[in-house]
Amino acid sequence: MSRNVQRVRGTQDIWGEDADRFQAVVDTFDTVRRLYAFQRVEMPVFEATSVFARSIGETTDIVSKEMYSFEDRGGDSLTLRPEFTAGLCRAYISEGWQQLAPLKLATHGPVFRYERPQKGRYRQFHQLDAEIVGSDSPAADVELLVLADQLLRELGISDGVTLQLNTLGDAETREAWRAALVAHFESHRGDLSDDSLVRLDKNPMRILDSKDPRDRPAADSAPDIDAYLAPEARGFFEKVTAGLDAAGVAWTRNARLVRGLDYYRHTAFEFVTDRLGAQGAVIAGGRYDGLIEALGGSHTPAVGWAAGIERLAMLAETVPSPAPEAVLVPLGEAAEAAAIGIIATLRRAGIACDMGFRGNMKRRMAKADSSGARYAIILGEDELARGEASLKDMKSGEQQSLALAALTEKLRAR
Ligand code: ATP
Ligand code: MG
Repeated sequence: MSRNVQRVRGTQDIWGEDADRFQAVVDTFDTVRRLYAFQRVEMPVFEATSVFARSIGETTDIVSKEMYSFEDRGGDSLTLRPEFTAGLCRAYISEGWQQLAPLKLATHGPVFRYERPQKGRYRQFHQLDAEIVGSDSPAADVELLVLADQLLRELGISDGVTLQLNTLGDAETREAWRAALVAHFESHRGDLSDDSLVRLDKNPMRILDSKDPRDRPAADSAPDIDAYLAPEARGFFEKVTAGLDAAGVAWTRNARLVRGLDYYRHTAFEFVTDRLGAQGAVIAGGRYDGLIEALGGSHTPAVGWAAGIERLAMLAETVPSPAPEAVLVPLGEAAEAAAIGIIATLRRAGIACDMGFRGNMKRRMAKADSSGARYAIILGEDELARGEASLKDMKSGEQQSLALAALTEKLRAR
């Protein structure tokens, strides 16, 4: 019967406690980004395909095999955003945001990648995103990392999540290190997976964080960047780590953590946990000083991160779903009619309440109880005629008659 109304593979219907947890992550992010004075932006869900191809890079997994691209009726090639950074950089150029730099931006919403679905990995998933565009200061990297750390703390999940940090150096450092990596991997050609042989030509740094076990020995024995770090790049990294130490944010060095594309510079990081199996990365980001230029803008240093909302929500404890303060239980038709006005008044006064629409008194009371509401407001016709209602404390079971006019004050007093 339902054969034609299946959910599309890799999409989710998020409801019940999962939806509460999801919303708690979004709300917490909004609170924290305000504390750090990040501006909220809303971005298009699709962009011209070239925005992603040019900024994320043709050789990445995202662009080479994960994008949802389509031709629209006007013949333009469009792509559902696989991440936020590219669109934000496009906006920085096309909307003239240069004049406002440095900009601290926050957004969240759905992103789309054609991946093999599994727990913690979907084709439509959701990200939080924070970026500082137009600052070359290590203080910007520090601020973003401290923000991410505070988000995890406020969600109550910072225990068991580790900040892994690396530097990719400046352009000169990166070139020297890259050449050393190519030489190393060339001498281990025979040990590499097919994917990594392709990476060796196109994107050799990516071999370092390959998840294929065949690649690990060659990846683990590859040279670290440290021997190639130019003094200036080393100084930048030291300022970032000193800032984290000053802010009390714990970090560990992971010399294998990379971003494959040329315009990534200096800081690269990931917040990881071992509580989500293979889907252990919850927040990932870094500095991408060359990206806006690659998109056709002027040279603009920038740094940012994205977090998977589903993965953060999976780590978060069950959040209590917001219980209404009171549930109205009208008995009889006249009471039902009166209840509409009463509940409207209560809600306008800012009191969260709900109404049992169905069943007899017993069923409605059971529903009021299971809602977790503090009070049931029982509206009997005789009481209503006297301008009163019964207020039942669902915890103690105590019940009292109260003038309707006094209801709002009584509930607000809590
Ligand atoms: P992974 O290594 O897990 O594929 P990634 O490097 O592709 O992650 P990013 O592009 O850095 O991930 O995206 C930032 C964050 O978005 C990740 O740290 C993760 O929390 C989340 N994420 C990425 N892909 C998915 C997905 N398919 N489903 C759910 N969350 C995802
Ligand atoms: Mg991925």
